[in-house]
Amino acid sequence: MSELKDGSVLRVAGHEYLVRIASSTGRRATARVRGAQISVRVPSTAEPHLRRTMLSELEAKLRSMLAGGPPTETGVQPLQFADGDTVEILGRRYVVAVEQGHAGSSSGRREDRTLRVSLAAGLTAVERVEHISNLVRRLVSSEALPGVTMRVAELNERHFGVPVRRVMLRDQYSRWGSCSASGTISLNFRLLMAPPGVLDSVIIHELAHLKHMNHSPEFWALVRQAMPDYDAARNWLRANAARLGVPQPDEADG
Ligand SMILES: [Zn+2]
Repeated sequence: MSELKDGSVLRVAGHEYLVRIASSTGRRATARVRGAQISVRVPSTAEPHLRRTMLSELEAKLRSMLAGGPPTETGVQPLQFADGDTVEILGRRYVVAVEQGHAGSSSGRREDRTLRVSLAAGLTAVERVEHISNLVRRLVSSEALPGVTMRVAELNERHFGVPVRRVMLRDQYSRWGSCSASGTISLNFRLLMAPPGVLDSVIIHELAHLKHMNHSPEFWALVRQAMPDYDAARNWLRANAARLGVPQPDEADG
């Protein structure tokens, strides 16, 4: 008997997906996974027996497809984390541990290399996924920020000598970094999951902007002087953008 029912939750490899079923005019049953939701379409003409068979077959396919975690190759994806996942941040590995709490709000804390999330009571499947991901992101960001801020200061002192007022880690879908004339440098949280040289390349790009607020030949000369293998790092980003959930970063900046 298939577990695919409208409004039910399918659990695969520690991740939960909300199942939505609608009828279609086609002849085959289809499923599409987007984030934490599976949209299933079943032919409206299918008799109950055939419908059950189609759903069981679809469920088997979905289970094998999702065995390695949520799909990330299409569309903009929130970075999702689930109980038991390991997250590698700047070369350090952390384990996500999720427990069901009784409080009205979810909370998170780090214990050594474990990122502990306690979920609020009464959340829907979709909310659970969102709360876990948001809390893990916050824990990871506050854990990584001092080191990233130091790295910005180091690269700044070595190559630029511009006034930097503040460094921020943000979750952004469309750019790797940005800076403001007042000296705030924002870096995409997702860069923490890239090799260290890649994060450096974005830091250098933004620091160079504090000298040249454009992409003039002088700007690029400064970037390449500070990081001769800048292009290799950027090629890595381009090749892995979809995996990090930023499929079409704004090339014009960051
Ligand atoms: Zn730029």
